[in-house]
Amino acid sequence: MNEPTPVTVTRWRCTTTGCHKSYATRTRARSHAAECPRDPDNRSCLTCTHFTDSEHGGWDEPGHPAACDLDLPVGGLGTGEPMPRDCPTWAPQRQ
Ligand SMILES: [Zn+2]
Repeated sequence: MNEPTPVTVTRWRCTTTGCHKSYATRTRARSHAAECPRDPDNRSCLTCTHFTDSEHGGWDEPGHPAACDLDLPVGGLGTGEPMPRDCPTWAPQRQ
């Protein structure tokens, strides 16, 4: 039997604060960054003041869909629908 040898792998990580997604290729990482839901520049529900998330981690956990206080669809993993981007009612969250 031949002995296995270690392999070093480079992955490409999103640099948006709070986002830890990483990808095998720079191209895919850039595609993610262009619509990263945690980047306020992308105006997704996750960074909007109208986003309501009653349970910690709710958006990321199936069965605990988050909501919009304007009753617009928010999508996300709990719903199986993509989270909207560039919503016309988007407003920044207060820090
Ligand atoms: Zn990201």
